[in-house]
Amino acid sequence: MNKKRLMILSIILGVILLICILVLFFKKDIKLELIGKANMSIDINDTYKEPKVKACYGNIFSCKKIEYTTKGIVDTTKIGTYKLRYKATYNKKSKEITRVVKVVDKKNPELTINTKEFTICPSGKLKNYDYKAEDNLDGDLTDKVDIKVDYDKLVFTVQDKANNVTKKTFSYKKEDLEAPSITLNGNKTEYILVGNSYIEDGVTVNDNCDDLTDKVKISGSVDTNNPGTYTITYEVEDESGNKAQETRTVIVYNKNIDVEPSSKTIYLTFDDGPGPHTARLLDVLKKYNVKATFFVTNQYPAYENMITREAEEGHAVAIHTYTHNYSYVYSSVDNYFADLNNMQDKIKRLTGKETKLVRFPGGSSNTISRNYCSGIMSTLANELEVRGYKYFDWNVVSGDAGETKSTSQIISNVTSNLRSSYTIVLQHDVKSYSVDAVEAIIQYGLTHGYNFAPLDVTSPGAHQRINN
Ligand code: ZN
Repeated sequence: MNKKRLMILSIILGVILLICILVLFFKKDIKLELIGKANMSIDINDTYKEPKVKACYGNIFSCKKIEYTTKGIVDTTKIGTYKLRYKATYNKKSKEITRVVKVVDKKNPELTINTKEFTICPSGKLKNYDYKAEDNLDGDLTDKVDIKVDYDKLVFTVQDKANNVTKKTFSYKKEDLEAPSITLNGNKTEYILVGNSYIEDGVTVNDNCDDLTDKVKISGSVDTNNPGTYTITYEVEDESGNKAQETRTVIVYNKNIDVEPSSKTIYLTFDDGPGPHTARLLDVLKKYNVKATFFVTNQYPAYENMITREAEEGHAVAIHTYTHNYSYVYSSVDNYFADLNNMQDKIKRLTGKETKLVRFPGGSSNTISRNYCSGIMSTLANELEVRGYKYFDWNVVSGDAGETKSTSQIISNVTSNLRSSYTIVLQHDVKSYSVDAVEAIIQYGLTHGYNFAPLDVTSPGAHQRINN
């Protein structure tokens, strides 16, 4: 009985199976298959080659190629995940499949190390090394380079945004052969008026390995009650015994003392102003209590109040001309004195006093006046004396009248030509680079035993030969 039932069941199952196989073999349907992988990944900026799909309609025995559509794109210039949808429709049936394409960055950053021999500080501190990191996408990654000591190796690591890592390893020595550097705060040469205090500005120390800020030894002292030249020495040594030294010169000077002009007297004289640089010049003169002489004009009337200040601060105010116009003042004696009187009136208005001191434009030896009036310089020189004036030339030129615009050259022109008797220096306070030279000239004079004085009617005139 059981055997019989089992047989019947087997036959039924066999028939069902046969029907299934027949259906499977003969039933027609859409076949849609990816060629290549369903999940692809390509490097950014590489070319994407579409592998396509197989699409056909049929059964196991025959399948007819059919059309299909593709939706979606792969942008190889942008990192991201892109989906491509393929769809085939035939005989009222349709099928769809998908492919995922990832555009990724797989390139490691490029790490270039130029340092050849690596050392680190005895303390373990890293030094400066020469390296560069560049990434195809992130650009310059030099700032992102991480340097670590790993036992006996120095490890340089850099990672881009896509987590691609480049690592380079080097051997190193512990060693420091580089000396610290000392930079003075304040001036290399400091000038102090006797009786004033010396303020130590200190130094700034830099070292590749150690913090030496508090390790500077300062030696030497300044007696601010005794004029003279003092030296302050700064010394520092790093942990490896590398040393550095720097010095500062401190000059304690006496104020210029108003003495009778005798030997080694410097008369600083400034023509053509006042102008935009006169206030600055007056500040410098005040700082050193040096009195000078200003041969003034009306060329820059906006600065005329400087004439008042010149007089108030003890300088000699003298006449250069009102117009500084050669063709006018040298064309006749009347013109010259009309111009001179204009300036005299202005000086009187601004200072309350008249002046008897004069300097000719171009000096008494000028030849340009020949163009306007023959023999006028001789006449004017005599006529000035008759009218109670005294005219001044100079015996040292600074070179600021056109020969040079270099402040250091002007300083050198003056300081290297100082006379042992008296020196009348010609400068122009309308020239910034010449005003810039005055402090150094004064410092030189004061530290070399010279005395500065303003001109007065008893001063030597340093007259040059009249040429017209
Ligand atoms: Zn002039």
